[in-house]
Amino acid sequence: MTRDNVQSGAWKNIGWQDYAACTRPDIDPEIFFPAKKSGSQKDRFTKARNICGRCPVVSECLNAALEQNEVRGIWGGLSPIQRFDLGGPRPPGLTRGRRARRD
Ligand code: SF4
Repeated sequence: MTRDNVQSGAWKNIGWQDYAACTRPDIDPEIFFPAKKSGSQKDRFTKARNICGRCPVVSECLNAALEQNEVRGIWGGLSPIQRFDLGGPRPPGLTRGRRARRD
């Protein structure tokens, strides 16, 4: 975002996705939705979380995931279970009474 965008108010018309670190051409989007069979969930999400940690729109992304009830993948640097802990939807496979893992 440029200073001119901020001063003119034009930034309000720009979608936050335009600044998403995960949309860079060198980033494989599959790392945000890893296959279940490839290691622990924590390991599978590590690459995505590292990218989210450098993303300038992490708050916007997390809010969008919560508003859209996203139950899969990393959004805003958080796993589906972490979003569930924040009031998001219950992820598939997480049954009532089952203790959520915090990864
Ligand atoms: S927080 Fe992560 S998933 Fe969300 S836009 Fe940024 S890089 Fe992508």
